[in-house]
Amino acid sequence: MKVTVLGSQGAIPKVGLFSTSLILNVCNSYVLIDCCEGVQHQLRKNKIKLSKIEIILISHAHGDHYFGLIGLISTLSLLKRDKKLTVFCPLSVFKIIQAHLKFSKMNLSYELDLKVLNNNNKINIFNNNHFSIEAFPLKHSIYTNGFLIKEKEKKRKLILQKALDNNIDKIYFNKLTKRENVINNNGIKINYLDVTKEGDKAKAFAYCSDTAYFDELINNIKGVDLLYCETTFLKKDKDKATLTLHSTTIDAATLAKKGNVKRLLIGHFSSRYDDYNDFITEVATIFKNVIISEEGKKIEV
Ligand SMILES: [Zn+2]
Ligand SMILES: [Zn+2]
Repeated sequence: MKVTVLGSQGAIPKVGLFSTSLILNVCNSYVLIDCCEGVQHQLRKNKIKLSKIEIILISHAHGDHYFGLIGLISTLSLLKRDKKLTVFCPLSVFKIIQAHLKFSKMNLSYELDLKVLNNNNKINIFNNNHFSIEAFPLKHSIYTNGFLIKEKEKKRKLILQKALDNNIDKIYFNKLTKRENVINNNGIKINYLDVTKEGDKAKAFAYCSDTAYFDELINNIKGVDLLYCETTFLKKDKDKATLTLHSTTIDAATLAKKGNVKRLLIGHFSSRYDDYNDFITEVATIFKNVIISEEGKKIEV
């Protein structure tokens, strides 16, 4: 699983910097998480083909999280996309997209599957053989979801010499890696545990933007390999964070620590700050393993 940061900023982008968007490559599927103004430029700059995006997750209807969506949907049609695109979004964004398509009289070249999120609890919204996506409510000034993307248990690795020593026909090797016992050439049952070893670990990534800190959030992000949590404000501006239902460095660090996550990625910085080292310094007083969002940064989860 790999995360590429497309935008690091909060509501007001700066020269060369963009509002919040990430793209996740999970088991060779591309999931775009929030869709900032200029997202198409950022995708191209990072050499990610627009056609590869299969799923878009929109956390909420504040413009810094979806202003790039209409442009992207339109471009994909101009590029004659023919495979389905699935977008999970709140009802407000659903209505805006529908209105745009109606008023622009645009007939898309592909199926746009707009799925409305209106859950008040954590729910599963997507599943395939390789990964799942869950949505969970955040605490912001309008209806907002966070997302949890989890890889499914990976195949085990065959220990070839042991398989050969056990006289197993190679047509059964794949079954063994999928945790199935097989019968060998002598008619003896072979337990997959005896001839395979643990495969790559299934990884999990959680995304929390935008939100005030609240204790119930901990359960939704517990133990993930990488947590993205917004840090719009430094701790000296806690009053502004409280007023606008955003997080400070201390809030994000507390969430990461209490959630026992492995690493924390911070972003959605207010345009009032210029020195992002302050964010790292403040977070590190509580949670050491912190990464700062920067346009184009790639993080192996
Ligand atoms: Zn925002
Ligand atoms: Zn917001």
